[in-house]
Amino acid sequence: MKPLRIAMSPRQRWRRAIIFASFLLFPLTLTYFSPVVILQGAIKGAVTASAITFVALFFSGLVFGRGFCGWVCPGAGLQEPLAAVNPDAVTSQVAGKVKWMLWIPWLMAILTCYGLAVATNPAGLRLEPDFMMKAWVSIDRPMMFIPYFTVLALIVWQALALGRRGFCHSLCWMAPFLILGTRAGERLNLPRLRLAVETSGSGGCDGCSSCAACTRACPMSLPVADMAARGDMRHAECVLCGECADVCPRRVISLGFRASNANKP
Ligand code: SF4
Ligand code: SF4
Ligand code: SF4
Repeated sequence: MKPLRIAMSPRQRWRRAIIFASFLLFPLTLTYFSPVVILQGAIKGAVTASAITFVALFFSGLVFGRGFCGWVCPGAGLQEPLAAVNPDAVTSQVAGKVKWMLWIPWLMAILTCYGLAVATNPAGLRLEPDFMMKAWVSIDRPMMFIPYFTVLALIVWQALALGRRGFCHSLCWMAPFLILGTRAGERLNLPRLRLAVETSGSGGCDGCSSCAACTRACPMSLPVADMAARGDMRHAECVLCGECADVCPRRVISLGFRASNANKP
């Protein structure tokens, strides 16, 4: 299904401007999201900037769900414009599994290295957020362009090969922290940023005309119209961008902080 092209809402203009600005700042922030620097730090017993970021992403999931993916991430700022080149929906079931198949051994390696560092060093771990950085900037020497362009190439490759935000579905090492944080927030029933749909007594959405504009607009290629029809807008890959709410002609979807998954009656 091709994405929808209609006039952009002010909220979406802001959102896209923010994620694109985040992408422009990526040369400065790369190390803060690095899956390699955290491993290098763990081997040396250092708690790096990316270790702190990944823990913070988990906790952000408790309150903001995957809002980081929708509103902050530099990878989002690079991928959403690429939907103009490959607007296909990501339908591969394998893509979502690959992400976890890579993430679990990677995390186990990091935890093992930190465990060994603690076991062999009586002083324990060192807090070193500027590990591998000079003056807190990621690209501080020409050779740092190598990891920078490697990450860009991975993101562009997946977005062009798979479709809309392909890298988010298939290879992103940060998404699992956010998904697990979101699930933990659900278990604890914490108030958080959520999508809601107007439902009738039967649980479905009477106001929905099944136009599928929301599904076509979703940058994560989710079956939003089906979710609305079911009256349950929860989805592990929903990045809470609000695109579906902003294109819905019946205004039955909304994005906001809510105490539970209770939809608007
Ligand atoms: S899934 Fe990963 S690359 Fe995509 S927006 Fe979220 S953190 Fe960024
Ligand atoms: S379901 Fe809506 S809020 Fe979630 S990713 Fe899709 S468009 Fe964004
Ligand atoms: S855009 Fe609104 S009316 Fe159309 S299918 Fe989605 S929820 Fe229903």
